[in-house]
Amino acid sequence: MAMLCLSKIKCEKSHKLQPLFSFPKSLASKLSRDPQILLEASTDYGHIIHKSPYAVLEPSSIDDIANLIKFSNSLSNPFTISPRGKAHSVLGQAMAQNGVVVNMTQLNGFRNGSGIVVSNCDVKSPLDCYVDVGGEQLWIDVLHATTKLGLAPLSWTDYLYLTVGGTLSNAGISGQTFRFGPQISNVLELDVITGQGEFVTCSREKNSELFYSVLGGLGQFGVITRARLPLGPSPTRAKWLRLIYDDFSKFSTDQEHLISFNNKNDTNAANYVEGILLFNKPLLDLSFYPTPDQPRIKSLVTKSGIAYVIELVKYYDTNSQPRVDEEVDNLIKGLNFVPTFMFQKDVTYEEFLDRVHVEELVLRSKGLWEVPHPWLNMFIPKSRISDFNEGVFKDIILKQNLTPVILLFYPMNRNKWDDKMSAVIPNEDVFYTLGLLNAASGLDEVKAFEAQIQQILQFCNDSGIEIKQYLTRNKTPQQWIQHFGTKWQLFEDRKAKFDPKRILSPGQGIFQ
Ligand code: FAD
Repeated sequence: MAMLCLSKIKCEKSHKLQPLFSFPKSLASKLSRDPQILLEASTDYGHIIHKSPYAVLEPSSIDDIANLIKFSNSLSNPFTISPRGKAHSVLGQAMAQNGVVVNMTQLNGFRNGSGIVVSNCDVKSPLDCYVDVGGEQLWIDVLHATTKLGLAPLSWTDYLYLTVGGTLSNAGISGQTFRFGPQISNVLELDVITGQGEFVTCSREKNSELFYSVLGGLGQFGVITRARLPLGPSPTRAKWLRLIYDDFSKFSTDQEHLISFNNKNDTNAANYVEGILLFNKPLLDLSFYPTPDQPRIKSLVTKSGIAYVIELVKYYDTNSQPRVDEEVDNLIKGLNFVPTFMFQKDVTYEEFLDRVHVEELVLRSKGLWEVPHPWLNMFIPKSRISDFNEGVFKDIILKQNLTPVILLFYPMNRNKWDDKMSAVIPNEDVFYTLGLLNAASGLDEVKAFEAQIQQILQFCNDSGIEIKQYLTRNKTPQQWIQHFGTKWQLFEDRKAKFDPKRILSPGQGIFQ
């Protein structure tokens, strides 16, 4: 095998590393084995799993990615390749042990401003507008670029410092999902480099199988290099409400009532519905609420053990401003939150969408952002949420000496998802998402949270609650088959078609 020398400087820095592959010169110059870069590529937001790649590709064009994939395919013993967005995965999903990690965000520097392009825009029919976005782009940048023109995508995640390719490989969910569907339901067209290195443009009409495979496809079928997203008129402000309940049944009944108004064009419907649980434990975060109200909220939580909070948002702009208060009143009329436990903020649209970043800055300043995150995300069928409340929230989480940083629990409508896509969800018209977002102070706490997560999964299994994991945790081959259920055969066939050598996104642990 010819000596691999990726670049003089990088070789000097990493001279002790042994070459594994003989890369063509054009690729070798884009690969880095700088120990610091390798170290970064072997970690993620989870800080739990570490897998060291052989090298990191710093692409300066989409062709570099295609060439890397083709080169691996040409070898009798191909190496694995993992596109890495912002590595906000929590269990190594964007890593590639001894393979090559593609630093997708590097592409932005070579786009010459073409990373986010709004097109087809006639002010008279803004609903025909769309934006072409590089797979490496961050949602926060999509927000800024589109709202400048009075436009915005329809479906978001709670946190926007994630890449478009990363969230479309999962689903991309938030409080807008009940009405507009997940982000994967809001894609018109994609450019994808398949697992064989072919560049393919696909949509519902063109090369549709690849389109459906890639959306929610956990990076298994191709690298998303461009997504065309529909836009709507951007609101300018948000009425942001939190309604507190001491009763799970009232909380979930009201959430389901709110998401039953889900027509995209229904201006009376809510724009966002989520749910948060507050536990009677130390670290109760009440920063959203006015200081004078915090003691009575704390005492409600203390009394009931768990308080359930509906988070509800109604957007508006100067045209709808005269009506917005009445619209909010109509939305909450008849809801059964604890009387007087309704709290409201009035913020700009961007402040609302970028709310998690504000928390990120606080956590970073305290050194609490770059810590282990043993998270559990899952979907629960509506028919079993009451059992889930008793068995998980009350009997496991409340009773144990572990506090999640935040626990999200809110419903969405199945008919806003497209079953042809790779994402898997429960087989009921309405299902809930659980986001058990933990942060651990050290290894012992990671172990304790992991034990709790296993206990929750075991409880669901024993009780016959047919959950589907989201941002799925590592599984055995048999568990993956069970996870995909009736979609497994199709998923496997699509892998054989688009990535027959099983090169892509090995960190998901599905085919390796
Ligand atoms: P990475 O972690 O880099 O990659 C994820 C997977 O996608 C990997 O398998 C990778 O190989 C693959 N991949 C990456 N880029 C591409 C590409 N261009 N083409 C093909 N495959 C690719 N999710 C939600 O749905 N809703 C939320 O509200 C939400 N909030 C979050 C808040 C925080 C603080 C964090 C840390 C995560 C949150 N997530 C949320 C999860 C997030 O959507 C996923 O972790 C997502 O994968 C992150 O995107 P990323 O760019 O960091 O992807």
